[in-house]
Order: sequence, then C-alpha cells, then structure tokens
Amino acid sequence: MFEYAPAPESRSVVDIAGSYGLFIDGAFDGGKDGNVFKTVNPATEEVLAEVAAAGPEDVDRAVAAARRAFGPWSALPGAERAKYLFRIARIIQERSRELAVLESLDNGKPIKESRDVDLPLVAAHFFYYAGWADKLAYAGFGPDPRPIGVTGQVIPWNFPLLMLAWKIAPALATGNTVVLKPAETTPLSALFFADVCRQAELPPGVVNIVTGAGDTGAYLVQHPDVNKVAFTGSTEVGREIARAVAGTGKRLTLELGGKAANIVFDDAPIDQAVEGIVNGIFFNQGHVCCAGSRLLVQESVADELLASLKRRMATLRVGDPLDKNTDIGAINSAAQLTRITELSEIGASEGAERWSPECTLPDRGFWFAPTIFTGVTQAHRIAREEIFGPVLSVLTFRTPEEAVAKANNTPYGLSAGIWTEKGSRILAVADKLRAGVVWANTFNKFDPASPFGGYKESGYGREGGRHGLEAYLA
Ligand code: NAD
Ligand code: MG
Repeated sequence: MFEYAPAPESRSVVDIAGSYGLFIDGAFDGGKDGNVFKTVNPATEEVLAEVAAAGPEDVDRAVAAARRAFGPWSALPGAERAKYLFRIARIIQERSRELAVLESLDNGKPIKESRDVDLPLVAAHFFYYAGWADKLAYAGFGPDPRPIGVTGQVIPWNFPLLMLAWKIAPALATGNTVVLKPAETTPLSALFFADVCRQAELPPGVVNIVTGAGDTGAYLVQHPDVNKVAFTGSTEVGREIARAVAGTGKRLTLELGGKAANIVFDDAPIDQAVEGIVNGIFFNQGHVCCAGSRLLVQESVADELLASLKRRMATLRVGDPLDKNTDIGAINSAAQLTRITELSEIGASEGAERWSPECTLPDRGFWFAPTIFTGVTQAHRIAREEIFGPVLSVLTFRTPEEAVAKANNTPYGLSAGIWTEKGSRILAVADKLRAGVVWANTFNKFDPASPFGGYKESGYGREGGRHGLEAYLA
C-alpha cells in the first residue's frame, strides 16, 4: 500500500463569518427572539459559526415575503426566470471551490466528493431546470401549467447544498417562491447560497432561508400560507409532516430513508462489483438515503468477493475531510455517531460477525471505521433498519428468486443495484424490484435529468427530470 503525504485543500479559500442571520426578503437579519445555535466542524468539533434560530414570527415574515414575491415572479415569462437560474448556476460554478471547502468543513464529507460530486451536480441541477423554465408548456402537464405558490422546503444534512438545489431549482423554474430550512448541523452552504441569490440579483423574497432546528421546520410546514411542502429526511419526521399536512389542501412530496439491496450474481466481474459496493456504502460516510447498505451476494462467489472486498477496504483512507486523498471523512454529528455505534453493537450482539480494517481514527471529532457484518439474516436489526453510516450488512442467496425476495423484504424502496454480465437478467430482476432507482453494474450515479424517489416508506413524489416539475405545478 502506498504512503500518501498530506495534501490538504486550503481552508482560507472561504470566509466564514462569526455569526449569521436569517435570509428574509433579500436581506439578512438576526431573528426576532435573538435565539442562536452553533454549527461545528464534525472533523474537529471546532465551532464554525453562530446561526440565528428562526421562531414562529420569523417563519411568518419569510412566508409573507415569499407570498409578496410570488405574484411578480410567477408572472415573469419563463425565459426571464431562466436567466436568473442560469446566472445562479454560473455563479455556483465560479464559486465552487469556496462552496466545496465550506461544505466539507460544515458537513465532514471528503473534499474530493464535495468538489467532484456535490458541486458539479448542484450547478448541473440549476442549468437543467433553467432549461425547462420556458418550455413548461411542452412538459406534458397541459398547455399552460401554473405554479402552486409558496413552497416550504425542509432538507437534511447529508448533501446540504445538493438537496437545496434539488428543491429550489424546480420550484423557481416553475414560478413558485421558496422558504427553505436547512438542517441544523449544516446551515452554512445554504446561507452562502443566499448570497449567491443576491449576487444573481434574484428579486427579494423569491428565495428565503430560515435556519433552526426541527421546531423551525415544523412552523414552516404547518404555516397556513404555505401551499406546497417538500421534505427530505427521516421516515419518522416524514410521517409527522404527512399527518400535519393531511386535510389542509397543501401539496406534499416526501423523500425518506432507504435500505437498498446491492445484488451481486455469480457471473459479475468481481473487481468491478467490489468498487461498486465500496462506492455504494462508503461514499459520503454512508450518509446516503439510497446507500447500498445490504449486500446480497450469490453464495457460490461469496468467499471470493468478501476476500476481495476486505482487501479493498484496507486501502480506504479515513481522516481529514480537507485532504484531497481522503476517502472517508467525519460522521456528521455526535448524535449520528451514537446511532451508528448503537446499531453496530446490536448487530454484533444479535450474532452477526463484525469486521473493520485496521485504521487509526483522529482523536477529536466524530469518526467511525468502515465496517462490514457477515452472517447477517433477515431478522437482524442491521438488515432492516437504516444505519446511515459506513456499515454494510452482508447476506447471501442461491437463486435469482431468492435474491428478489430478500431485496424486497424491507419497508423501504428507494434504490437497488444489480451486478451481472447478463443483460437479460438485469432487465428481469430490475422489473421485480420495488425500488425507485435501480442501478445496473454501477451505483450511486445521479443526473439532474433522471427522476429520483421511493416506494413504500421511502416516500412519494419524484425529484429530478421532467417528473420533478410535476410536484411544483398546480
Ligand atoms: P430528521 O428527519 O430529523 O431531519 C431532517 C430535517 O428535518 C432537518 O432539517 C430537521 O431540522 C427537520 N425536522 C426535524 N423535525 C421536524 C419536524 N417535526 N417538522 C419539520 N421539520 C423537522 O433527520 P435526522 O434526525 O437528522 O436523522 C435521523 C435519521 O434520519 C438518520 O439516522 C437517517 O437514518 C435518517 N435520514 C435520512 C435522510 C435521507 O436523505 N433520507 C437524511 C437525513 C437523515
Ligand atoms: Mg456543521
């Protein structure tokens, strides 16, 4: 194995203020009650900034600003709205180095991912929906599709800026206005985006950012003047939101958890499959709703594949997210680390066999070594519950029918992967999988033109692509 010298990206490329206010009606302000919370760098536990926590009256002001902005914004010709979206996309590209460093600092993800995956996808999303803004009449939703109104959007901490892009780009392209609440552990890239909106001279009130914890999110989704709610996060909170919204006439899309099966057949190219398995579960520390967290491997190749997977895992570099050679960064929060640790201990106590490569973890910050469990059965909690960390549960199967039955034996249905040389098998198996996205001989590939969303407890509605417009049209 090679020794790598440190290759840190510069932290000084981005300015972080000591404190941040709420972005309402085109300006930052401190929030009525003056409540604040701290956001930390999970790799060091260093406090990065103090951020305003929005109370009910602040949310009310943000919704009122979005309401005032809605009339003129929705009346603009699509080609005019497109100009703003193109401008936002270009500014994001121009400032992508700053944004990538900021995202890695606040979230803990490796710089090579924020730089090469998150930021390019964020810009691509704005470019893609900019292209739709003047073509809505040809999108298949009638000759004159209309926006819904004020949208309340609540997003998680795993892809802070990318989830913002997934929510805001289609909303603006279709003529809606936005109040968005970022997650409490990762508010900084959304606040940076507020500055991008000002730089793009987006009219005040079209995008408002209210920071805070779950209660701020609850004020927003329950606000009577919000017409559409879009949420990405845990199934538990998704259920709460569905109950709060029921009977109000508000439109709702939910993108919730997952427990995806990554299925490897005996004819799959093993080395390629191992790369896909590693990408499937260790990308973004496994903080991925569509992570391939259940490996289903055909019994006849299980030993060979596991030996190869362990060799590969031993080469993964865990550590400083700003180091360009880092593969696995920090766990996003102490709370998430506790959850991963507890579920892993349950896995071991229920009888699964735990394995991690030797790796030295930093003293400060929140870290978890890449881990696999073998000998896992369907009854184990680590085979059923979303761990949302770098932990893979390995099960085996003998026949394609058994693989499909096991893959579908989950309350979730967000994604799945198939590894085989046979095209006919890909089609036959994909057809039987109850999952919104099925990848074949690859995993965790995203494109703004491709719709994404779940079945069952993974939520409803689609984001991305032409399908993603529907959720924002009346
Ligand atoms: P969460 O669902 O609590 O948080 C997601 C967002 O919802 C945050 O912005 C949060 O402030 C907000 N929120 C919380 N309670 C709310 C409420 N009652 N009304 C409105 N908004 C509310 O997720 P979490 O606590 O950060 O993570 C818990 C688990 O959820 C994780 O371990 C993981 O399994 C899962 N998760 C899934 C995703 C995903 O992309 N599907 C993302 C994050 C977490
Ligand atoms: Mg943080």
